[in-house]
Amino acid sequence: AEARARYTNRRPASAALHQKALEVLPGGNTRSVLSYGPFPTAMERGEDCRVWDLDGQEYLDLCGEYTAGLFGHSEPRIHDALHAVLRRGTNLAAVGAGEERLARLLCGRFPSLQQVRFTNSGTEANLMALTVARAFTGRGTTLVFRGGYHGGVLTFPLTGSSMATLPLPFVLADYNDSEDAAAVARAHAGDLAAIIVEPMQGSGGCIPATPEFLASLRALADETGALLIFDEVMTSRMSAGGMQARLGITPELTTLGKYIAGGMSFGAFGGRADIMALLAEKLPHAGTFNNNVLSMAAGGVAMGEIFTADVAEALYQRGEKLRGRLNAVGTAAGLPLCFTGIGSMMTVHFRQPAPRRGYAATPGEEALRELFFLDMLEAGIYLARRGMVALSLPVGEAEMDRFVDTVTEFAESRRPLL
Ligand code: PLP
Repeated sequence: AEARARYTNRRPASAALHQKALEVLPGGNTRSVLSYGPFPTAMERGEDCRVWDLDGQEYLDLCGEYTAGLFGHSEPRIHDALHAVLRRGTNLAAVGAGEERLARLLCGRFPSLQQVRFTNSGTEANLMALTVARAFTGRGTTLVFRGGYHGGVLTFPLTGSSMATLPLPFVLADYNDSEDAAAVARAHAGDLAAIIVEPMQGSGGCIPATPEFLASLRALADETGALLIFDEVMTSRMSAGGMQARLGITPELTTLGKYIAGGMSFGAFGGRADIMALLAEKLPHAGTFNNNVLSMAAGGVAMGEIFTADVAEALYQRGEKLRGRLNAVGTAAGLPLCFTGIGSMMTVHFRQPAPRRGYAATPGEEALRELFFLDMLEAGIYLARRGMVALSLPVGEAEMDRFVDTVTEFAESRRPLL
């Protein structure tokens, strides 16, 4: 209660905006993930890895726009590319060189991509990948995993069967449970069109899939004739060619999104050329902004010049090191505080040992998660409300030291609650 009161007192402009926004936006926002009580902090501007809220307070941005903000807020090469496009006009209603360039870059990097199509979001990319899989196999059912998130209308519950999702035939199995996946897939083998999986459940709490689990899904797809789809919307940052390149497991289809267009709206789905050929034949795929010149130009620079293989590897290693340091804080203090993740993405959990799949947090864990978020904000560190960090390229050693110090202080000052 005290942390909430402090939060409210420091943010009169955000509170006032929220009151007005409630009148015209359900919940006062247009993205569910940004809805939290008592009201969300509204941001006004950003520079490198810093953001400023409506009340003028500065934060170190470790939220990294839920992975879409990989380049920070003021990468000059991306800004130059965008300005150059603006001078040439934005809505040309025609194919252009930018989309061919970006498609070629992506196909050159991700092992599964022989051909690719663009969309405006990761959600759309997944909807299209599922549509392609159904059309290609002539089957209907998709195997998904509990706790998975593939976009707003593709949210899968941890328990029970109520799904905030489309009325498509989905069947659910437990994440990181090869036996369960095999049992469910075999029960539906005759109608199984696709197995879609995040190589790490991002929204579900940065829970990595074990390599054995993903390899078993590869074998299961081969056995049943279903297409394996890797949703690498978040994990594509883990190397030049995403988690599929790191693990040496190649799905039939891959979906991408987030940072790839340098921070502009983006999604993509692609894979084997004989499957993608459907789109050139009988499967319609339209979308006014699919090849919008801003996303295409920024993406070409982002992936062609800035986020090179070396930069991707260095970011991965920095994240591994940071997570190790953060986990040492909990271990040294003997506290139930851990960070799960891969490379530059991580989420805090108030339990030990680290979870291997999603779980229903206890009210105590939920309260600690909120307190963690509020204490970090108070110390000038902005992360996702659920305790997720996505490092951006401008985050350096000094910023990471500051985060480790702040988490250490949290562990000390909140020790009685942990
Ligand atoms: N897939 C995964 C794994 C995601 O994490 C997200 C977004 O967080 C999406 C798909 C949806 O992408 P978008 O928000 O661009 O629709």
